[in-house]
Amino acid sequence: MPPTIGVLALQGDVREHVRTLTDLGVDAITVRRGSELDEADGIVLPGGESTTMAKLLRTFGLMDPLRKRIADGMPVFGTCAGMILLADRVRDGAAGQETVGGLDVTVRRNAFGRQVDSFETDLPVTGIDEPVHAVFIRAPWVEELGPGVEVLAEAAGHPVAVRQGHLLATSFHPEVDGDGRVHGLFVDLVRRSVR
Ligand code: GLN
Repeated sequence: MPPTIGVLALQGDVREHVRTLTDLGVDAITVRRGSELDEADGIVLPGGESTTMAKLLRTFGLMDPLRKRIADGMPVFGTCAGMILLADRVRDGAAGQETVGGLDVTVRRNAFGRQVDSFETDLPVTGIDEPVHAVFIRAPWVEELGPGVEVLAEAAGHPVAVRQGHLLATSFHPEVDGDGRVHGLFVDLVRRSVR
């Protein structure tokens, strides 16, 4: 049976993730409530606005259930705002900005600055043969990482794709151009965890 992978659907670019995951042959569902989270073998935290998503996680009663699932080993893939949500520590966050946490990194929000708000580049990613066309939109980067965190890709001298066990995060948006290879890495993590 294909694994069921949720996409947190409170805000952000949900549809593109659902489509990319569906193309990879998994059962992709949107997650807005606890019962949907319970069905998921893994979850994608999409790009969007990390402060808004953190508030909505509280409003929808999902913050604590999500933290518990992560602590229990559920694979999570955070992209852009989702990387911020997954990070234990945030620089340049909004006052009192809360994260879900789990990933032992410090990220800087909107790190690439106003001049290069958004850009695209071909990025070598560990575990993927040919470079990935990476789209960065007001993206964070990783500034500090704990000993269990592996860097999979760098841009401007900073990690922009990292993995810590069952947790994967990218600063960029691998869902926008139909290239499913980064999602493929995540699907592999989920398949291994449900075996
Ligand atoms: N800058 C956004 C934030 O802080 C992230 C942007 C994105 O997800 N494309 O949440």
